[in-house]
This record gives sequence, structure tokens and C-alpha cells, in this order.
Amino acid sequence: MELFDLRGKVALVTGGNGGIGLGIARGLAQAGADVAIAGRNAAKHAAAVDALEGLGIKAIGIIADVTDGSDVRRMVAETVDRLGGLDILIANAGINIRKLPQEYTIEEWHQIVDTNLTSVFACCQAVYPEMKRRGGGKIVTIGSMASLFGFDVASVYAATKGAVVQLTRSLAMAWAKDNIQVNSVLPGWIETDLTKRARQAVAGLHERVIQGTPADRWGQPDDLAGAAVFFCSRASDFVTGTALPVDGGFASSMF
Ligand code: NDP
Repeated sequence: MELFDLRGKVALVTGGNGGIGLGIARGLAQAGADVAIAGRNAAKHAAAVDALEGLGIKAIGIIADVTDGSDVRRMVAETVDRLGGLDILIANAGINIRKLPQEYTIEEWHQIVDTNLTSVFACCQAVYPEMKRRGGGKIVTIGSMASLFGFDVASVYAATKGAVVQLTRSLAMAWAKDNIQVNSVLPGWIETDLTKRARQAVAGLHERVIQGTPADRWGQPDDLAGAAVFFCSRASDFVTGTALPVDGGFASSMF
């Protein structure tokens, strides 16, 4: 389908070496985009780059910490340099620390805010000049069900994910005239390393997720690929500032 064709496009996916980021990177690669993945873990990078190259596109791994401004600028410059430009940013890297609000240290607050929110702003700022130069671009931020709902054992995470959606809307307004569309995807409960840790730590979580998800299952990283390809392709050229749940119905369900 020409509308969804990403051949000739270059995508940068932060946290693209595993979980949701890799699921999205695979989707973009299957639609024809060349892909740079960025993260801190070299072993995860090597496996992910192999898997992406197996889909017949150019893939590169860039070691970068998205909480470090100079790493972010280098990551963008390296993508442009090695893949010949940058059309798509997936600002996906994120962490959580599960605690009750009264238990967080201020250092933990800053760690979560720096990774989940400040980095998204820094990555978007860093890609803007190249997207403007190319006459347009696509940015997808990753929110959460915690962008919509309160979460007792993840108050800081929820604060960052709510803010990511508001940031997305504001960037969309600011950059619409530059033909840069900025949208957010809000994953439901997806099986990844992040939620594996939560499943181990929170008794009954698995059952509560199934109960709250009308689709009656956890999502898989590849479930995010379709929404991401839509938001990164010509099919969404008149769609900006939105936040799309990809959640098996979790956010629409009363019970
Ligand atoms: P994972 O823990 O599986 O993956 C997180 C990714 O982020 C890794 O690739 C990691 O790479 C990267 N990362 C973390 N911190 C940094 C950093 N400082 N610099 C660079 N990269 C970093 O989690 P998920 O795939 O589950 O989560 C991905 C995104 O989706 C997050 O934003 C998360 O909040 C969101 N999300 C997840 C949900 C779920 O159910 N799984 C639900 C809703 C939202 P490395 O280890 O190499 O640093």
C-alpha cells in the first residue's frame, strides 16, 4: 500500500533494542524504512540490528543515554550521517520505579522525569532542524495508560506520561506549519522486560491486567507496529496532536 510505504525514509527509535521499541522498529522496517536504534546496552543492540537487517533494510545501533543532552545530539547527527537523513523519530525510551509516593527520593523523581519526559523534549528538539530542512517529518511519542489514569505505585511515571501527551499536543501545534506531525501512542499492558519486572513485584498483576483488558490478553510489542506505521506514513499527513490507545480496549472499559 503506497499510503503506508516507508521506503526511502529513515527512522530513529530510542529504546529500539528491545520491548515496544523493537516491536515498532520491526514494523517500520517491514514498511521499508531504514532504522537507527539507540540505547545503552551493546549486546541488546547487536541482536536487534541483526533482526532488523534480516528484514532487508539498513539498520544501525547507536549507544546513547537519552538523559544526556550531548548523547542525544550525537545520536541524531550519527543517524543523519550514516543513514543519509532523518524523517521519523520514535521517542520511546522509558523507565519506571514502583513505589508509593511517600517512598520516592528526589533523585528517583529526577531519574524518571529525565528519562521519560526531559529526554522526549530533547530528542524532539534535536531532530527538528533536520526534519524542517527535509520539508517535514513524523514524531511519535510513547505515553501509557498512566497518561490517562492515576497509578498508586507509579505516581512519578504517571506524571511523566501525562506530560508527554501535553508536550505532544504542543509540539504538534508549533510544528504543523513545518509539515511535522507529532502524535502519541498509549500502549496498554504489553509483555516486555519492564512489565516482567512489575509482574514479579506486584502480586495478582497478571490476573488484574487480563480482567481489565477486554481483548483478554496482554499485548505483544508487535501490536504497536500498525499504529506506528500509520503515524509515520503519508496516511497520517492530516493527523497531528492525537493520543491513540493501543490497549485491547483497556481505556474504554468500565469493568
Ligand atoms: P523495556 O524496559 O523493555 O525497554 C526500555 C527501553 O528503553 C530499552 O530499550 C532501554 O535500552 C531504553 N532505555 C531506558 N533508559 C534509557 C536511557 N537512559 N537512554 C537510552 N535508552 C534507554 O520497556 P518497554 O518496551 O515496556 O517500554 C518502552 C516504552 O513504552 C517506555 O516509554 C514505557 O514507559 C512505555 N510503555 C510500556 C508499557 C508496557 O506495558 N510495557 C505500557 C505503556 C507504556 P537500554 O537498556 O539499552 O538502555
